[in-house]
Amino acid sequence: MKRLDPPAFNATQAIEVCASGISIHERAQALLDALPVIQASEAEYRELGPAGQLFQITESNIVTSQIDAVLMGVIYKAHFARKGSPSRALYEQIRMAPEYGICPLCAQRTVATVDHYLPQSRHPKLNLTPVNLVPACSDCNKNKLAGVPTRAEDQTLHPYFDDLGNDRWLVVEIQASSPPTISFAIRPAGAWNDVLIARVNYHFRVMGLGELYAAQAASEMADISYSLEDVGVSTGPVGVRQHLDGQFRSRYDRDANSWKTALYEGLRDSDWFCTEGYRMIRNRRP
Ligand SMILES: [Zn+2]
Repeated sequence: MKRLDPPAFNATQAIEVCASGISIHERAQALLDALPVIQASEAEYRELGPAGQLFQITESNIVTSQIDAVLMGVIYKAHFARKGSPSRALYEQIRMAPEYGICPLCAQRTVATVDHYLPQSRHPKLNLTPVNLVPACSDCNKNKLAGVPTRAEDQTLHPYFDDLGNDRWLVVEIQASSPPTISFAIRPAGAWNDVLIARVNYHFRVMGLGELYAAQAASEMADISYSLEDVGVSTGPVGVRQHLDGQFRSRYDRDANSWKTALYEGLRDSDWFCTEGYRMIRNRRP
């Protein structure tokens, strides 16, 4: 759920560099011969992507009469992404793009691979097209495999095209329990249309972000429990709230919608947590 700049090179460059590293002459030539088809497909993708309409691109199991989806898969894996190939630097450029190597789809785990936003088996023409290649952690990569969207609402978010803005939209609900129970929810920003609201919810569900963030939040609270109790003893609920506010502002300054930003905002705003809940975390080592 983090926006990324699209790769700074296009399909033509990817294909030409990839072909230069293929020693099987006929295969390299077949790939170069496919350029017009691949370029047309890339142009369609660039037009539909910003409008959130990529699901409309027609599926196909061939690129040209010479290259089917299987061969294109081989070209991607054995040539384009192969370590030591001339195109590997392009692959790495995509994989290494996110700040701190954090997956843009979950904003939590580290990038492990490059994901085809439109799957390579159904869209071989887009197999080496940079704007269809998104860095991802292996969990997000696996979670996304499941479905092929048939309508706009069922598309996961695309880091190169979808911008959720800087209004606060990720929020927590706090249940007064011992330990406190934190769950995450989406509060749509004013600028979002109905399709984007549906897509953010779909993305959240497919990637399992509710469970992921809840687990991280529980662990974070266990981490801060000792210092919060310390603050509570010396300055009471007002001091606890002030402390949480500082933590919130520090996270918000970097990312308005990280799970940490949402967590600290929710804790700060909870009267129950600031008066007694902070003493109920108590998940210490024995
Ligand atoms: Zn991820």
